Amino acid sequence: MTYDPQERRDTPLERELATRIRTEGPISVAEYMRICLQDPAHGYYRARSAIGSRGDFITAPEISQVFGELTGLWCAVVWHQMGAPKSFSLVELGPGRGTLMADALRAARIVPGFLEAAEVTLVEISDALKAEQRAALSAVTNSLRWVESVAAVDSTRPAILVGNEFLDALPARQWVLADGGMHERTVALDEAGRLIFSQADTLATGGPCVPFDRFRGGAGAIVEWREVSSLARGLSALLEGAGAAALFIDYGHVETAPGDTLQAVRGHRHEHPLCSPGEADLTTHVDFEAFAGAFRGRCGIDGPVTQAEFLGALGIVERASRLMSTNPGQAGQIELAVARLMAPQGMGARFKAIGLRSMHLPPLPGLVSVDKTARGT
Ligand code: SAH
Repeated sequence: MTYDPQERRDTPLERELATRIRTEGPISVAEYMRICLQDPAHGYYRARSAIGSRGDFITAPEISQVFGELTGLWCAVVWHQMGAPKSFSLVELGPGRGTLMADALRAARIVPGFLEAAEVTLVEISDALKAEQRAALSAVTNSLRWVESVAAVDSTRPAILVGNEFLDALPARQWVLADGGMHERTVALDEAGRLIFSQADTLATGGPCVPFDRFRGGAGAIVEWREVSSLARGLSALLEGAGAAALFIDYGHVETAPGDTLQAVRGHRHEHPLCSPGEADLTTHVDFEAFAGAFRGRCGIDGPVTQAEFLGALGIVERASRLMSTNPGQAGQIELAVARLMAPQGMGARFKAIGLRSMHLPPLPGLVSVDKTARGT
């Protein structure tokens, strides 16, 4: 996307970033993402409620209640696979408006003992969204708590975790490939003091994580790497502690591949990522190969499969038909929403689901790929 200075918006964070870069020098793309999304005063997720038709973007649980309901039933099956522990943490990472969890808990009510055993724990940094989550959930459960990172979830009891569109919001670094190495991509200032993309002078060969050898010859291309080590440490404590299973759904690719996927969305429109720091949602696609790599050898990994495969295996068609026959007036709307979640050229293929589980647990439901050719990127 080209950067039209006319569209540049003078945000409080833009001024802070410019001052910092002027005194300390360019910052990495990951640091830019972190500040834009998480800055305590002006970060995108700190103050605003961005999700839904009146916000900046719409997510699967906001499109159809069936998404959260199937996720809730998935959690209940996994709870049984764990031996139906009397007490466990039901954790959602980045719960947005609380819609997924509300639908999940409502659907899982039919499973005896599940709700009574669940301590609902929400991993959230946004005060605005915490308030929405409280409003959505306090009538559905009286066991509700918030933490700011997965490391704060009690590892002495079993845990079931879900995260929809959570990983894409975690900061990612970018490198520009060169002959013989790569330069970290940075955010710097041009002569007029405007934010621009630039790159570090120093040449890295491999870095902490990017498999440079795989991209040799691709000079000029951009490769990305998401820093998930603190998430991985927190999750591993649960996976290796009293036992855990985690489900992540996000848009992204199955194999590590070059490409600049940093994108900004504001008011349902894409804009240049440097346009309005702190006032647009910033994400990069999830590299599922790299994500799985952070856990390999530490736990069982199931998938990734496409969202359509996952929801199909969990019975989305049957669930939607039942919903349509009990709500005939909304049948058309329900059908459209489900078609959107399953679209082979859209969310159904672009989103993937991956599962992590403690070594002693059996494979997680719905996550065995049935058709490898259907895995789009
Ligand atoms: N899962 C929801 C919302 C997705 S938006 C849905 O599908 O509708 C991303 C969510 O992650 C928001 O709730 C945001 O506040 C939260 N979030 C973003 N970065 C976070 C971080 N570093 N730690 C915890 N929560 C974070």
